[in-house]
Amino acid sequence: MFFVLMVMQANQHIIELGKTLAAEEKAGCDDTATDHGISIFLREWQAQHPQALHEPVVQGVLDALDGYSELSHAEREARLSVALDRLRNLFRKQPKAPAEPVGAVPPIDTLLKTLQGIGPSTARSFAKLGVHTLEDLLYHVPHRYDDFSKRKQICDLVVGETDTVIVTVDAIKSFNAKGRQGVEITVGDDTGVLKASWFRGTWMAKQFREGMRIVLSGKVSMFREMKSMSNPQWEPFVEDDLVHTGRLVPVHPLTKGLQDRNARQVIKRVVDAVTPTLSDPLPIELRERAGLLPLGVAISQIHFPDSWAMVQRARQRLGFDEFLYIQLGVLQRKRLYQGVQGQPIAFNQAIHDAYLSSLPFALTNAQTRTFNEICRDLERPVPMTRLVQGDVGSGKTAVAAAALVQAVAAGFQGAMMAPTEILAEQHYRGLKKLLANVKIPGRETNSNGDWRDELDQEKRNRLAQIKQLLMLADEPEPEPGGIRVALLTGSLKARQRREALKLIADGEVDIIIGTHALIQANVDYQALGLAVVDEQHRFGVEQREALKRKGFNPHLLVMTATPIPRSLALTIYGDLDVSVIDERPPGRQPIRTKWISSGERSKAYKHMRKEIAAGRQAFVICPLVEESEKLEDVKSAIVEQEHLQHEIFPDLKVGLIHGRMTSSEKDTIMAQFRDREFDILVATAVVEVGIDIPNATTIMIEGAERFGLAQLHQFRGRVGRGSHQSFCVLVSDKEDNDVTVARLSSMEESEDGFRLAEIDLELRGPGEFFGIRQSGTPDLKVAQLTDTRLLHAARIEAERILKLDPELELPEHAKVREKLQAFWAGMETQSN
Ligand code: ADP
Ligand code: MG
Repeated sequence: MFFVLMVMQANQHIIELGKTLAAEEKAGCDDTATDHGISIFLREWQAQHPQALHEPVVQGVLDALDGYSELSHAEREARLSVALDRLRNLFRKQPKAPAEPVGAVPPIDTLLKTLQGIGPSTARSFAKLGVHTLEDLLYHVPHRYDDFSKRKQICDLVVGETDTVIVTVDAIKSFNAKGRQGVEITVGDDTGVLKASWFRGTWMAKQFREGMRIVLSGKVSMFREMKSMSNPQWEPFVEDDLVHTGRLVPVHPLTKGLQDRNARQVIKRVVDAVTPTLSDPLPIELRERAGLLPLGVAISQIHFPDSWAMVQRARQRLGFDEFLYIQLGVLQRKRLYQGVQGQPIAFNQAIHDAYLSSLPFALTNAQTRTFNEICRDLERPVPMTRLVQGDVGSGKTAVAAAALVQAVAAGFQGAMMAPTEILAEQHYRGLKKLLANVKIPGRETNSNGDWRDELDQEKRNRLAQIKQLLMLADEPEPEPGGIRVALLTGSLKARQRREALKLIADGEVDIIIGTHALIQANVDYQALGLAVVDEQHRFGVEQREALKRKGFNPHLLVMTATPIPRSLALTIYGDLDVSVIDERPPGRQPIRTKWISSGERSKAYKHMRKEIAAGRQAFVICPLVEESEKLEDVKSAIVEQEHLQHEIFPDLKVGLIHGRMTSSEKDTIMAQFRDREFDILVATAVVEVGIDIPNATTIMIEGAERFGLAQLHQFRGRVGRGSHQSFCVLVSDKEDNDVTVARLSSMEESEDGFRLAEIDLELRGPGEFFGIRQSGTPDLKVAQLTDTRLLHAARIEAERILKLDPELELPEHAKVREKLQAFWAGMETQSN
């Protein structure tokens, strides 16, 4: 009984709502049926009857009418009729099954070419733009708007301004003047006359009749003492349903065979038909919290906005959606990685102290802070997924090594993956030396059965001497109980490789350094507990899965010197927690950077000579000929090396390194350069990342305009690594290109990688930012990566949704889930 009463009461409120809306419709949709407008009425009604919100029909009604008072008359009419239809259906005795509240709206995956009224050639042109379905068309958003919203009377028109007039056609005339065919009409309103002409052939004449009411939008000029408009936009006047004139007129991206008017007309028809009943995947509470328009309103308003303010709100809604789906995707990815049990690694102070005392320097505050953040992650039973961002030279390796030491101390193995063999070998050499004397407790007592532990000191010394004689030992042997480091790259000889694999599987080595070879199928770790990935933006989902398959759900630490702006980091690396090393080791002097033209090269050479005379070394980077290292780059590097060696510096030693060399060749060259067998090293982009030669003080970059700012900054990071004043010379003659000037000057002015990255992002967009497109770079249609406020709002909502419903299984998230899948599927096909 009580229940029935409740239902009756609820119905009473809904009937009241229906009555008010019907009154509004009857009054002509001018928002006068209530005291303060429909929007406020709805808000109050909703507050008074919160339980009514559980009724899906009511939700649909509120959806359709959201922002009613701000909408145009035509839009109000359409939405009100949808809302009333929904309400009436609710009270029909026998609800029509399936409930089909409004006339037959085609489903949104309908192919354009199957729609009546869209010719095959129009459909083909849209297809060229990637627009195949109704939904594609809804998201084919304008790239700008013509503001024809200022309506005037003829007497108020001002020459030179763009205005709109509503007029009656008085006379129509075709003309053929000096081979130019056209149509001229004379039009008027109560205040004056105006001529309008089009030079497009005489066919247009047929479109006008005398006495016809039309709208003209265009720039006003004076012709033979008369106000006129040449080639104005026009259309028959229909109050509140203007498409091409008298409003903010959308300009959509077009392609060959697609006329702007035709495209606009098609889009208007589809938008009008589909958006009033378009269901919104986002739950209504979320939209209210984030202050978002309903999806249908947003789409309708982005194409045919009632005002600039509505353009903004529409963009905000659609941009929010893009950010939300990105955030949902990356957060789910994170859950996937962290959803499994990991291995907690307790912090070991004694080992850490031993490590610190083996370091030739003290960690900076930023390094210590980052290390602490890592340790906090390691202690949890959830696999860490942390990104360490630190500008070139900020000392990421020392932090990673400290973490690896902790993993080893807890009985695990650690791996460190580098993008190139040169870098892997450099890390190997550095860490081996650094960690050889960091002792793991319990190891000295020979519990692990290293045969060397059995030898007494005397024998050990002799063994070392023999090795020295045979030139087998360029580095010290690890002390017994010290941390054992191994190298695993693709270019190891078969036997070396077999041996290394066996040591890794048997747990005879603690830290394995290598390239991608580290995560290949045939590598078995005894107990991988922490994986460090150095300098790779492309360490994606698959690689992570491969790592996970290595058995122990290792903690993951990704390091990058690419100073990714915060917004981009949240989208690309949204699944990682971020630590930033924002401080350089002390004693580094700023690198002096200068942009010169090719005519000033001799000055730069003179400078290099002076530096070399003082005992320093230099890099010369050859221009990038193609995107990835091709034969052309190699040729130009060879030519450059010969030129420098024979014509400029015949008395000095000039070396060469390029990407077509085998890795052992490259390694030899780098070792020779380090040992000062060359004064100058000519290089292609291979030296971009990570190479550490502290004695090099000058880097000269030829064809500097070809490189991205992030890349130039990386190059520059090759010098300034020691205590000497260092120099970076950018050579480019592109002084007439604004973007180049902006970029190269910012290199001269700033050494802040983050600042430079932001400039680069602004100047070139996210796609170009990394040099080449990479999978997972979001291609945003509406959202601006610089809109961090919206991005954060989306992030928060995504977190909230997933906290409540991690698998998106609740009915109110069904559509979000569907959209999410479609969004990421689209992203993957784009990047292939
Ligand atoms: P990156 O962050 O670019 O990988 P590296 O780890 O290669 O930087 O470190 C750059 C140089 O700085 C190395 O020669 C390293 O030994 C040195 N370094 C790192 N941390 C410190 C520190 N706290 N104080 C002094 N030198 C440091
Ligand atoms: Mg590094």
